[in-house]
Amino acid sequence: MYDVIVIGGGTGGYVASSLLASNDISVALVEKDIIGGTCIRTGCAPTIFENTLFSNIYRYREWGNYVGVDIGISIGDYKHKMKEIIDFLSNVGENVLKSRGVDVYYGEGKLISADTVEVGGKLLRANKIIISTGSEPIKQFPKRNVLDENTWINANFSGERVGIVGGGPAGVEFAQIISRQNSDVYLITHGELLSKYPLTVREKVKSILDWDGVRIFENRDVLKMEENVIVTTQETINVDKIILATGRVPVFPKGVENLVSLDVRGIIIDDNMRTSKGNIYAIGDVAKKPTPLLAHVAFEEAIIASLNILGKPTKIDYSSIPQVIYLDPKIGIVGNESEAEKFVEYPFSASSKAAITGYREGYVKLGIKGDRVVYGEIVGDQSDELISVISLFVKYRLPISKLLFTIFPHFTYSEIIINAMKRIYNIDSDLPY
Ligand SMILES: Cc1cc2nc3c(=O)[nH]c(=O)nc-3n(C[C@H](O)[C@H](O)[C@H](O)COP(=O)(O)OP(=O)(O)OC[C@H]3O[C@@H](n4cnc5c(N)ncnc54)[C@H](O)[C@@H]3O)c2cc1C
Repeated sequence: MYDVIVIGGGTGGYVASSLLASNDISVALVEKDIIGGTCIRTGCAPTIFENTLFSNIYRYREWGNYVGVDIGISIGDYKHKMKEIIDFLSNVGENVLKSRGVDVYYGEGKLISADTVEVGGKLLRANKIIISTGSEPIKQFPKRNVLDENTWINANFSGERVGIVGGGPAGVEFAQIISRQNSDVYLITHGELLSKYPLTVREKVKSILDWDGVRIFENRDVLKMEENVIVTTQETINVDKIILATGRVPVFPKGVENLVSLDVRGIIIDDNMRTSKGNIYAIGDVAKKPTPLLAHVAFEEAIIASLNILGKPTKIDYSSIPQVIYLDPKIGIVGNESEAEKFVEYPFSASSKAAITGYREGYVKLGIKGDRVVYGEIVGDQSDELISVISLFVKYRLPISKLLFTIFPHFTYSEIIINAMKRIYNIDSDLPY
């Protein structure tokens, strides 16, 4: 009899298992594939790897001119490197779990009752169960040239015509990295591109993709899709490959429907990550929530569920979840734009640091309510890191009139954030713009 069985060894399940085990809780983790889940296998890790690679190559090509070095790329080599990184992260994860005393069972976990899970014909029992079985692409289209968010990673797109169906974050990230492999990319979306995002973000993303030569087709219904052709309400597009990035649905372990409340968007949870059956918890993409499906949300939910299991009652707070769209330049967003009474913007081109590094494209935009920052948007180099600074302001509702006397080091990009605040009082100072 274990204290806890965790079903699913992706981001959420990994964090919960290792955290509980290091607090002397006996844990059995059941995983049907490899440790790491979507984030490591096909999601965050490979997209961030490709984003970093192609952003750097573009930059190094420019800098290579100064020293007479011509920078090329071998698709075979970089795919090999990416596989090495994925294997490394997955293996490290497995070793950490084992070293902390987690018993890992490989196979599909099925819920037999509120305290029993079956895996490979073996019955495991525990006082508590955490379900962390993730999500999967909404549409499957089993044809050779039609890929999805799980299968894109193994394909070579170099020099091909690629149709991407779906204008969410995954679709736009795929569009840029694939267009940078000398491919013609057609991005087709049902409504507007990134329709759930603020207007300035949508416009910026369109101009970035436009610069990369991606052809964007908004407000189109796909009427027919064959291996080499996409027929929309307005055109026929001939392609060599298609990627479906049309959204994700929860993956429910067998038997769960008899035990807990759920709907098409996931398992219903309370603020403590508890399901309708008190000893069963759900975390990560499989848990229904008001935020996008993100690895750092799964992380946080794993911590909250674990603390509650450890007897430390703690509630989840979804109010300031940052999000990054991995384009070149990256885009970081946090908070609620509609709460803002006014906005203030500061461009990267007015930053001395950006003048030195050459990354002069982008801006910081803050949404202000009274004396507080309630929304932040950063486009530019390192915005994936910088957005966390604004997350602190948004989460703790810190007063701008005090914050703007925080001294940030010179030459840094973070000065752009403090200068945006100083601009409200007309005391900002860096380069003219
Ligand atoms: C293309 C793409 C890019 C992304 N980029 C980012 C990003 O940059 N940043 C970010 O924060 N998030 C990103 N995400 C989202 C992120 O990957 C997910 O939010 C995160 O992986 C969710 O973690 P999870 O533990 O809920 O599920 P998963 O990581 O999917 O793990 C679920 C695990 O459960 C296992 N499993 C399922 N059913 C069973 C069963 N019955 N028995 C045993 N095991 C089972 C699966 O094999 C899997 O390993 C991206 C996603 C995609 C698709």
